[in-house]
Amino acid sequence: MKKKNDELKCSFCGRSYPDIAFLIQDTNANICNECAERANEICNSYLAEYRKSRTNTIGEVPTPKEIKAFLDKYVIGQDNAKKYLSVAVYNHYKRLSQPTDDDVEIEKSNIIMVGPTGTGKTLLAKTIAKMLKVPFAIVDATVLTEAGYVGEDIESLLVRLLQACDYNVEEAQRGIVFIDEIDKIARKGDNPSITRDVSGEGVQQGLLKLLEGSIVNVPPQGGRKHPEQKMIPVDTKNILFICGGAFEGIEQKIAHRLNSRVVGYGVENVARNLRRDKLLNYVMPQDLRSFGLIPEIIGRLPILMNLEPLDRDALRRILTEPNNAIIKQYVKLFEIDGVKLEIPDETLDFIVDKAIEFKLGARGLRSIVETIMVDAMYETPGTKKKSITITPDYAADKLDKAKFDLLK
Ligand code: ADP
Repeated sequence: MKKKNDELKCSFCGRSYPDIAFLIQDTNANICNECAERANEICNSYLAEYRKSRTNTIGEVPTPKEIKAFLDKYVIGQDNAKKYLSVAVYNHYKRLSQPTDDDVEIEKSNIIMVGPTGTGKTLLAKTIAKMLKVPFAIVDATVLTEAGYVGEDIESLLVRLLQACDYNVEEAQRGIVFIDEIDKIARKGDNPSITRDVSGEGVQQGLLKLLEGSIVNVPPQGGRKHPEQKMIPVDTKNILFICGGAFEGIEQKIAHRLNSRVVGYGVENVARNLRRDKLLNYVMPQDLRSFGLIPEIIGRLPILMNLEPLDRDALRRILTEPNNAIIKQYVKLFEIDGVKLEIPDETLDFIVDKAIEFKLGARGLRSIVETIMVDAMYETPGTKKKSITITPDYAADKLDKAKFDLLK
């Protein structure tokens, strides 16, 4: 505030000292404390109306079929998971638009996705985020610790969500949070009553608080580096949580359960007759429990779905079909330089073979393509070349030179 000057007037009410307590001065206009307070009141009442209107009208809600059709553009296969997700997100919208004084209150149904790494869990979540009209954040459970340990507190999960909507608490309170690697906070050891290995359990208890809906004080800048920061209370009642994890080894728990169930009925070892990668289709909440999630958490994640491992056909389609398929991206990159990039089917098959051979799954496709293409991308710009064809021999040569085989 500048020095008190008796001659200056408030540009709004025209009063000057000593009729006012103080004057906020700017180059073109001044405002007295009373007019500023009044302006603040007016802003607040308009803002409240504005936020209310945004909370109540989510606009056109896409139907589950429309949501799935959108997912189909980016995610190959995983039809079952897509269906569950579409319905869950649709219901989330419906719950948000439901009048609060209604007798029947629709409860939210948080989701848990189980599936091998690199099968599209995060991709599904990210793709859903693209079409959503609610704030969305992806967070990683591995950074979580119980308060007092190195790492982040549970509350910090909500910081991302707040950031996604410019700290508009009301918007954040109807958002969606994707918690990746939820399996990493499972209690180690099978038997809760004997092992008593509480590592992970405290984090799960903390997470439970968020999942079941409570008012959580969120440090706006996350972490504990800023002890002076003012906490923001966030009600998690309407926040939809989608959790994902690879749950490596859960197949054994499923097989064990299936086998022990049929003993006595004369049916031998059903699990043995099932292909290992199909076992995941039979995942049940009790398997998550055997894996080390506490029953309370499982109860708060009522929608349990699994993602299928990606087979050769799926990997092949992932290379070329999705809207942002890897090959489409490279074709575009070359097109910008006026070069036509051709990758014949045999080369695509070769790339898929390598991804399978190196057990890299969908995640490996990109690194394989990148390794094959890097020389062409380095050499071509600035030359007169108008087209490039990547033959299987060329691709094999580039992988050999890059010592990709060491990955085997
Ligand atoms: P995770 O299941 O471990 O979360 P991601 O979703 O991160 O796996 O997948 C890793 C990468 O693999 C993605 O960026 C995507 O390019 C590709 N990918 C995986 N699954 C699919 C799928 N079903 N359809 C299309 N691309 C996929």
